[in-house]
Amino acid sequence: MKTNLISLLDNAKLNKKENDLYLRGLRNHKEEHIFTEIKKIHQEVFTKIDCIECANCCKTIPALVTNSDIKRIASVLNISAKQFLRKYVLEDINGEMTLNVVPCRFLNEDNTCSIYEVRPEACRRFPHTDEKEYPRRTSLNLANTLVCPAAVQVLQQLKNVIPLV
Ligand code: SF4
Ligand code: SF4
Repeated sequence: MKTNLISLLDNAKLNKKENDLYLRGLRNHKEEHIFTEIKKIHQEVFTKIDCIECANCCKTIPALVTNSDIKRIASVLNISAKQFLRKYVLEDINGEMTLNVVPCRFLNEDNTCSIYEVRPEACRRFPHTDEKEYPRRTSLNLANTLVCPAAVQVLQQLKNVIPLV
C-alpha cells in the first residue's frame, strides 16, 4: 500500500476516540442532510483514490456473501452453489456467511479482483460511505476507518462540512 494511504490509516488509529465521538454525534443530526453531503464527498473521494493501489479490504476483511452472491459467482466459475459453499464459504452459528480466507482467494497479485463483474454485493458496497444508513452505523463506520483509507477521507471531509460542536 502506498505511504499516503498508510498514513491515512495511522491517522485514523490515532484519532479513533475522536472519530467515535463524532460518529456517535451524527446520530442526532438530520439524516437527509448527512446523506446529501456524504454522497457528494464519497463520489469526490472515489474519483481520486485508486483502490488497486490499496486492496486492503480484500486483504483483511472476509467479505460477506449471500445466497444470491453464491449462485451468481458459482455459475461463472462453472461449479454448483454447493461446491462453492464447501470450497469458499464459512458460515457462523447465526447463519452469517463470509468468504473463508483472507487475503481473499479471488484477489489477483496485481490487486484486481478475478470475479469483479460478479463480486459479492458487500464488496461492491464497501465501505458503505454513500448509503443513507451511514449515520446509524457508528461501529461499522469506525471499524472501516481502520481498514479503508477512502473511509477515512470521507469522514475527514464530512467533519469539515458538518462540524458537530
Ligand atoms: S471477491 Fe473480489 S472484491 Fe471481494 S474481497 Fe475478494 S477480491 Fe476483493
Ligand atoms: S475500498 Fe477502501 S480498503 Fe478497499 S481498496 Fe478501496 S480504499 Fe482500499
